[in-house]
Amino acid sequence: MTESTSTFVAYPQRVISGPGVSHAALANEVAAVGGGPVLVIVSDRELPLAQAPLDALRDAGIDVGEPFTDVRPHVPADAAEAARAVARERGVRVVVALGGGSTTGLAKAIALTDDVAIVAIPTTYAGSEATVVWGITENQTKVNGSDPRVLPASVLYDPELTLTLPAGLSVTSGLNAMAHCIDSLWGPNESMVSTAYATEGIRALGQGLAPVVADGSDLAARARLQDATYLAAAAFSAAGSGMHHKICHVLGGRYDLEHAALHTVVLPHVLAFNAAAAPAAASRVATSLAAAGYGDGSDAVGALLALYDALGAPRSLGDLGLAEADLDEAAGLALEKVPASNPRPVTVADLRALLARAQAGDAPTA
Ligand code: NAD
Repeated sequence: MTESTSTFVAYPQRVISGPGVSHAALANEVAAVGGGPVLVIVSDRELPLAQAPLDALRDAGIDVGEPFTDVRPHVPADAAEAARAVARERGVRVVVALGGGSTTGLAKAIALTDDVAIVAIPTTYAGSEATVVWGITENQTKVNGSDPRVLPASVLYDPELTLTLPAGLSVTSGLNAMAHCIDSLWGPNESMVSTAYATEGIRALGQGLAPVVADGSDLAARARLQDATYLAAAAFSAAGSGMHHKICHVLGGRYDLEHAALHTVVLPHVLAFNAAAAPAAASRVATSLAAAGYGDGSDAVGALLALYDALGAPRSLGDLGLAEADLDEAAGLALEKVPASNPRPVTVADLRALLARAQAGDAPTA
């Protein structure tokens, strides 16, 4: 294959968006992808959001049993086993996952080993519902993989379920979606489809985030962020992990840093590092953010930082718990994972310097 060859694989998935769809469309979706009985996965914190969807299923005569609520970050293997056991005992064909990336991740762990379809009802902007990527953690090591069996058969994006997301988490989760977009522009399997998704995703995130910070009940802006979430995650799923995701995977797993905030802090540093070597990608970032009111379309890093300033986004890995003493080890571990397709070569000294700036909260540089 030549350098200009690319492959885009479109997996089947029904995506339904709009206020109220989490209950109005749910019973139909469950019936369309396999029918009852269903296992509903939802954390205790999101249980109030699940009441109308649970009622809708019961009203349709679907056996919902008891919700499975042992949702923890990074999908611990014991939680995955417990959820699988309940699914098998009840003979479920459909798993309904209502929550953030941790909840969707648990449903994916079941689908990895058992023949179930997932109906995902996302309540953050993490985007796991639109990717073929799964992750399970055992003995403090997170194992990730790609498998089309874990892709939810149906996704219901209901902006009403995101109204309770606090401003801080809206910002970091939205910038986690921004990282999906930007990293996919130089992902190892980048294609014209993934790049088109990412370009529109960046614009939609730029348009939706500040209004949501100003007014968390802005339903139209919340819906815009969900559109962006899907585009971002679908782009990332198709293009594969670039340097940004590999760095964050290493840091998140080794130092237990909060997922969305970690992605938020690292992203401008990876963009600054790669921008000059990836002018087409940088131009797309700059023009998409300019269309949302950030910068004049000529400077991708400057526009992203203008968005960060407007949102009050976190800027320091030190604040998230990464110590200066960890930098040498972190750089070495990350270097092993950086894809060969990164737009410019990367040395351990480059990564050490990049991470040092991110740890200290300093401005990103090339
Ligand atoms: P999360 O699911 O852990 O949720 C973060 C917090 O937000 C939790 O305390 C949760 O209770 C709360 N929350 C969720 N929705 C809420 C709402 N509407 N209102 C108020 N609070 C709400 O975190 P996340 O950032 O959504 O997802 C991170 C996890 O997902 C990580 O484990 C990450 O690895 C995984 N992930 C996987 C993929 C993939 O493609 N497989 C993509 C992105 C993230």
